[in-house]
Amino acid sequence: MFVIEDFKKQLDGIGTLAPRTVKGKKIAQACYTRQVVTIVGLKTTTGRFLPVSHEGYSNETYVDKVSDLLGKDRAEFIGRKLKGIERRAHMNLFREMVESQQKDQGDQEVGWKAFFATHFGTKLEEGCTIPDKLCLACWNCSLFGGLESKVKKAATFSRIRYFDTFSIEDAAECVQTDDSPEQMAIGNVVYEDLAREGEEKARGAESFYRYEYVKAGTRFPFITIIESPTLLDIAGYLTAVRLADQHGYGKYSANHGKFASQFLAISTGYPLFSVLDMLAWAEKDDTSQLESHLEFETAVNAPVTLLDRADIDGIQKTLDGAFQDYVTALNS
Ligand SMILES: [Zn+2]
Repeated sequence: MFVIEDFKKQLDGIGTLAPRTVKGKKIAQACYTRQVVTIVGLKTTTGRFLPVSHEGYSNETYVDKVSDLLGKDRAEFIGRKLKGIERRAHMNLFREMVESQQKDQGDQEVGWKAFFATHFGTKLEEGCTIPDKLCLACWNCSLFGGLESKVKKAATFSRIRYFDTFSIEDAAECVQTDDSPEQMAIGNVVYEDLAREGEEKARGAESFYRYEYVKAGTRFPFITIIESPTLLDIAGYLTAVRLADQHGYGKYSANHGKFASQFLAISTGYPLFSVLDMLAWAEKDDTSQLESHLEFETAVNAPVTLLDRADIDGIQKTLDGAFQDYVTALNS
C-alpha cells in the first residue's frame, strides 16, 4: 500500500485538469511539469484483428506488416490507431460516469451534454466530438489534446504519447494470408461501412470482401507515456484500455479486433527501453520475464515503479474517487 502512496505523491493535482477561461473560451491547459508516468503492457488478440492504416477501395484488405524487423516479418499496429480507439473509449467512459451520477441524483433526463454545457462552455446540442469538433476543455481534450482551427485558433496539447508496436510472432505464422493453406477470409461488408462511404447500394456480390487478419493469440507489447499526469489521467487511461479491448481495434471492429491487455508496469519515470527492446527480450526468454528488464529514470528523485498486479489494479480502482475530485474542482 505504501508504494501506491509514494506513487501518488509524484503526480499533479486533479484540479490542474479544470479548464481556465482564455479570451472568453474555456480551455484545459495543464501546468507543465517534468513529471511523467509510463505505462507498459502486453496486448494479446482474442480473435481476428485487422490492423489497417491505409485507406483502400478495393474489396480486399491487407493488414499492415513490416519486413525484417529484428529478423522477422511482423504485423504492425501503429500508435495513431491505438490512440484513436483509446481516446474514444476514454470519452465514453467518463460520459457514462457523468450520466450514472446524474441518475443517482435523480435527474434522468439531463445527459452528458448538459454537463459539458455547464462545465466546459459548449453549446448544449454539441458537446465534444472526436475528432472534428473538440471542445478543448473536457477530461478528454485535456489528456489527448485538440486544435480549433476555425476562428479562435485555440489549442490544447496532447499529454499522452503512443508508440507503434509490432507482433512478437512472425507474420508468416500470425497473419492469415493467401499464402497460408486456409487463405484469406471472406466477409460481408457491415452496414456501417457502406453507410460511411455514402453508398446506398443494396447488399450484393460487391458487398463481399476478402481479408487478411492477425490470428488470435498474437502479442503486441506497448508503451504509453502521460506527461504532467494526474491520478484521473492514469486511472482513466487504464480503464479506457479495458473498454477499448472489449470494443475492438482495427478494421471491422464491430466483430473483430478484441484484445486482452496485461499491464506489466506503471512508473513515474521515463522508460530506458523501447518497444523494439521488448520484442528482443520476448525473443530471448519469452514474455514471462519481461518485467525483470523494465528500467525507468527520472530527472529528479527516484522513480516509483508499480510492478505488482494488486498495486496496478489499486491505481485503476481509484477512478471513482479521482472523478469525484475532478467534479469538485470543476465546481469550485
Ligand atoms: Zn473535449
